[in-house]
Amino acid sequence: MRKVINNTLRIFTISAVLVTTLLVFVAYYAQFSLKEHEDIRSRADLMASCLEKYSEDSVLGILHNAYDGAADLRVTLVDGGGSVLYDNTGDAPSMDNHMERPEIVEAFEKGFGEGSRKSSTTGGRIYYYAVKMSDGNVLRLAQPTNVVRGMTMGIVPIVAAILLAVIAAAFYISKRLTRNIMEPINSIDINNIRETKIYDELKPFLERIANENEERARTEKIRREFTANVSHELKTPLTAISGYAQMINNGMAKSEDISEFSKKIEKESDRLLTLIDDIINLSSLDEIGGIEDAETVDLSRITEDAIRVIEKAARERGIQIFYSKAPALIKGNPTLIGELVYNLLDNAVKYNKDGGKITVFVGETGNGVEFSVKDTGIGIPEDETERIFERFYRVDKSHSKKVGGTGLGLSIVKHVCACHNAEIRVKSKVGEGTTMYVTFPKDKKEEN
Ligand code: ADP
Repeated sequence: MRKVINNTLRIFTISAVLVTTLLVFVAYYAQFSLKEHEDIRSRADLMASCLEKYSEDSVLGILHNAYDGAADLRVTLVDGGGSVLYDNTGDAPSMDNHMERPEIVEAFEKGFGEGSRKSSTTGGRIYYYAVKMSDGNVLRLAQPTNVVRGMTMGIVPIVAAILLAVIAAAFYISKRLTRNIMEPINSIDINNIRETKIYDELKPFLERIANENEERARTEKIRREFTANVSHELKTPLTAISGYAQMINNGMAKSEDISEFSKKIEKESDRLLTLIDDIINLSSLDEIGGIEDAETVDLSRITEDAIRVIEKAARERGIQIFYSKAPALIKGNPTLIGELVYNLLDNAVKYNKDGGKITVFVGETGNGVEFSVKDTGIGIPEDETERIFERFYRVDKSHSKKVGGTGLGLSIVKHVCACHNAEIRVKSKVGEGTTMYVTFPKDKKEEN
């Protein structure tokens, strides 16, 4: 990470400086050339107006004196026929006729002319400016580009120094920056994230880690409690079974008690098996996050089947079941949904009063497909309606045990709801009864 930050910053700074330098260089060069051209034009105009006062011979003498051997300015004098009378960069008589040169042609026509072209000797661009004098000759000045280039080059050392300084600054800043970014991260106390002082940009990330840590600790605690509870719940029926078996085995039980004891052993074993079934169901629900092979399920058919299973137990206690149904198709796992429906109906029987009533509804409502079970039983205290979904939580432990409860039924129901994106609600009044509502999302495919 440190390397990435360092390199990015360095590359960025160096490229920024180089691009800026290039732009400054180009702008400076353009500006400088413009100024040079202007200089040459005014110099030529001035020279022409001065030289006009002299005869051609005197003009040639003046030019020889002033410009022979001058390297920074090229001076040429051309007569009306285009022949070169004077040129400070070569031997005038041997030069070719200059009537072809555009600036000279223009000067003869308009009084002045300019042109810019590549020099055949130096290869660089040269600016020419020509003025027609009163005697009919044309005076031409040219600025060799190497002078312009040379002057422009003068800024190179300054730019190089600035470049070096900026690169050094970039190195220093990137080092400091990475240190400022990395140091607080390295000093985070992973066990005490919320107390750690850190810059604002990292706070949401740390908040997420802290939340995940808390969630993990909570799940871990639930798991530990569950293991302890499971061991305890398994131990109780096993202790009873083992006690009765021992008494039969070592002859302490009278022969008339043996039938009674073996019934107790059978009851405790059934309890143990139910408990183990519930635990297996719960742990397999823990494993799956959602339903993978969901199919279209008719909730009213499943409810009918579950009612048939609990009917006998209800009849024995004089409890009447009323069932109103409408077609209700949902997407899900039929076994798990059957488990959910059975558990809620079973509770409505177990916690009902003798001679009570159970009203079951299945059908579509505005929010989705609803399954509800209303009983006229003992009810649940309001402050406990949330807790009944916890594993092994029972409002009245001895009552639950008496009716063969494990304390896991509603945990399973809650899990199945979560897997099916269904919502569960409880409405209850102590002494009057309880209604459990489960709302499943509609099966979209069936809707279309
Ligand atoms: P259990 O096996 O004990 O019935 P559940 O998880 O199904 O376990 O229910 C947890 C507790 O919630 C029960 O022990 C009981 O106290 C309470 N409960 C559940 N359903 C009802 C109901 N219909 N009426 C009254 N109490 C209920």
